[in-house]
This record gives sequence, C-alpha cells and structure tokens, in this order.
Amino acid sequence: DAAVSVQGVFKGFSTAGKVTQVLDDIDLDIRRGEFFSLLGPSGCGKTTLLRILAGFERPDSGTVLIGGRDMSSVPTHLRNVNTVFQNYALFPHLNVHDNVAFGLKMKGVPIAQQRERVAKALETVRIQEFAGRRPEQLSGGQRQRVALARAIVNEPEVLLLDEPLSALDLKLRKELQVELSNLQETLGITFVFVTHDQEEALVMSDRIAVMNRGRVEQLGRAEELYERPRTAFVATFLGSSNLIPGTVQELTPEGAVVRTVHGPLTTRHSAGLRVGQEVVLSIRPEKLRMERDDETEGNEVRARVDDIVYTGAENQYLLQASGQQLVVFQLNADIGADEDFDYDEEVALYLPPESLVVLG
Ligand code: ADP
Ligand code: MG
Repeated sequence: DAAVSVQGVFKGFSTAGKVTQVLDDIDLDIRRGEFFSLLGPSGCGKTTLLRILAGFERPDSGTVLIGGRDMSSVPTHLRNVNTVFQNYALFPHLNVHDNVAFGLKMKGVPIAQQRERVAKALETVRIQEFAGRRPEQLSGGQRQRVALARAIVNEPEVLLLDEPLSALDLKLRKELQVELSNLQETLGITFVFVTHDQEEALVMSDRIAVMNRGRVEQLGRAEELYERPRTAFVATFLGSSNLIPGTVQELTPEGAVVRTVHGPLTTRHSAGLRVGQEVVLSIRPEKLRMERDDETEGNEVRARVDDIVYTGAENQYLLQASGQQLVVFQLNADIGADEDFDYDEEVALYLPPESLVVLG
C-alpha cells in the first residue's frame, strides 16, 4: 500500500489561448516512509506535480491517492500533507516560535500542547535557541530549519519539499542534505523531495523518479538509474555518459554484438534486442579503461588524447575516436608514471561488456 499514488495525471496550462501540456500521463507509487525524489531540469513539471499532491492545483484528469484515499474532492487544508518551499515563506513579523506554532493555533490546539509540540519540532531541527528571533535575524540555513519545523510540527503523513536547499551555498547545502535524510529516518514520514540537482537526488533518496518534459523517464534506486539508465536523457542527466550509436549484428548466449563506427562491440545487456535493430550504447566515463599496449582482448576502441582536464580527485580525458569524442574519468590515485597519458597520445580504450548499457 502506497503512501502516495499518482495515476494517469495530466495537466496543461493555457496562456494566451495556447495550451502547454505540463504533466503528460504521470504514474507513480511512493512507498510509506520512503525518501522519494522528483528529479529533472527546470520546467519539466516537478513543482506542478507537487502542487497537485498538496492540493494547490487540480489535475485535468487522473487520480491522486494519499494514504489510500482519493484526494479529488479533498481541499489542501484537509490533506495530511505539509509543504516546504524553496523560499521558506515564513511570516516576517512573527518570531520563530510563533511561526512554527501558527498552524497549530489555527487548528485550535490548546496552548500547552502547542508549546510542547513547537519545542519538540525546534529541537528536532536543532534551532531551539533561536525561538525568540524573527526571520530577518536568521541566516538562510536557519530559516530553512524553521520552515522544516513548521512543516513537521503538524505531524503530516507526507512531507513535500520543493527544492528546499537550492538557495543555500554549497557547503551548507551538503550539511543540510545529511541532516534532512537523518531527519527523515528519525521521523519515518514519507518525504517527496523535488530537486534539479542530480547529485543531491543520488545522495539523499531511497528512490528517484527522473522527469523530462512532463513525463517520468525512469524510476528506481540511485544505483539502478546510474548503472542501468534506460534512455539517453537519464544517461546524460544523471552524470555523464558516452553514447555510441550502432546496429545489433548478432545475439549470443552472453549478450549482443553491436556494429559501431569503432567496430563491433559486445554488450552483456541484450534482453529484448533483435538483429538489425538500431540502438545506442551508453558507458560511464569512469568505466572505460585506457591502455597503452596493443594486445587486443576485444571491445577496444582506438583513440587519441585531445584534452586533459584536472579536477582534483580525477583527471578527465577527452579523446577522439573515429570522429567521435569520448570522455574517460580516471581517479587521481591511479595517476603514476605508468597510467599518466599525454596530449596527442594514441591509446586503446577497453569497454567492459557489462558496463555497456543499451538505451531504448
Ligand atoms: P519545474 O518545477 O520542474 O521547474 P514547473 O512545474 O514549475 O516546473 O513548470 C512546468 C511548466 O509549466 C513551465 O513551463 C512553466 O512555465 C509552466 N507553468 C507552471 N505553472 C503555470 C501556470 N500557473 N500557468 C502557466 N504556465 C505554468
Ligand atoms: Mg519548480
């Protein structure tokens, strides 16, 4: 039984007589107590979907169930859901305590109980010593903690978070990423977390739905999406990928042989393929092995070093191979006399068959 179930949701907006389809047949099941992320580029419909879950927007068609209940005719304030926005949306004239207490007060929760619950929420996000301050007297990170406290004080079944960390600087964002996932584990509440930052989604989520142009391209755990992307969009949006087009030449018990501009390449991933089919092979830059010697073991591509980018932890090699640019990441720990390559050097790239994924 899902905490949130989205079934066949469509949503369009009309501006100046023209309708833009923003959500195009969304289906998702979000599990109880899961940290679930909606990941995609700006404009792909993440906020619109979140607003539909919260009840701020109605879908044109389709159904949203929360805790198994159809939300079609349930208004925002009666849904057991709270939202944390990117811009905090705190009341500027109220201090931290009163900001957090506001919802409880509106619901008529007795004062003593309000105090107790607010104190607990402030403690949970570790901001109790600022209870008397107004938002303008707080840093960005502290304000976002207050916004979180205000959401969790209602003890919702589901917490919706719309890019809550994106206004913060990198170091603080990393700290709060860790705190947020710990908080989610402690509370056991279902989190639906929106971000356009792939690394953030990979680090924090139990599962991720990758969205593109109003559709879910792929849904899965971080490792599944990273290791087994199903589309070119997922392969390139989550990290980098080398994409190699080709035609299926032969199916073997171990996999498939794909004819490419670099010669035949073997992949272990042949499920559903047929001979003659046009495919795109995808391989992550850190999965290719650069070699100097000429001993061919198959699945090798001849290439020339075009450029080397030093990024600290790793070196990124840009290579030319039969008119195609390929990228290889190599850990700096590996860079010794032997494994260091030079500009213009001719190399062999080994593409492990299990790392060559076939995209649809
Ligand atoms: P994201 O959060 O992924 O950046 P949004 O859901 O905010 O994307 O927006 C998706 C698309 O819908 C954008 O092209 C945006 O301009 C459009 N859009 C969102 N809300 C409205 C609205 N109220 N009226 C018209 N267009 C909208
Ligand atoms: Mg948005």
